[in-house]
Amino acid sequence: MMQGTPERRPKVILKENFVVEENIDSIRWPQECSVCGGAVEQTDDIKLKKKFKNFGEINVDVLGIPYCKACFAKSRRTKFLDNVTLVISLILGIPLSILAIVASMATPGTQFVWFGLIFVLVIGICYGVVWLVVKFPIRALFKGHFVDLVNAWLIEEKKSDGREGVSVVIEIPNKVYANKFAQLNEVVPQPPK
Ligand SMILES: [Zn+2]
Repeated sequence: MMQGTPERRPKVILKENFVVEENIDSIRWPQECSVCGGAVEQTDDIKLKKKFKNFGEINVDVLGIPYCKACFAKSRRTKFLDNVTLVISLILGIPLSILAIVASMATPGTQFVWFGLIFVLVIGICYGVVWLVVKFPIRALFKGHFVDLVNAWLIEEKKSDGREGVSVVIEIPNKVYANKFAQLNEVVPQPPK
């Protein structure tokens, strides 16, 4: 990243979502609620942390995502439901995967590498089931109490200038808001392959 330049601009590419390749800290958010377009009354931050084989631990904060009061409260509830879904999946999935691993150990010739795979697979299946029987019905029944909020995560990828690096993906479900975000941050459309 360049330091000390007077105009630090983010480098944002539009793929399926926005991919911020450079200067995430100079990202600008259109000053309206990122969910409903109402007046900004609160902001939220997303703290990202992930370990990469080639780059070590990367910590990035996506700061100042704007919300109105009502949508902010709904965003808390949405995140809470997401966390509950994950926790229930782990509570079910960890013992079940241990059982599956123990069962597979009884099969002669089982390789150690399979254990990790079984673990990931069983946790994944549990997450899918909990998503279907808990998260999906709750969100469908109490539709007005939850929102599709701005989300962000880290990826390792080949950037548009060819370098390998870590980028921040930003997902903005509100298309009108996403378009304003694109204009404000001079988003570059994905180059043709
Ligand atoms: Zn709102």
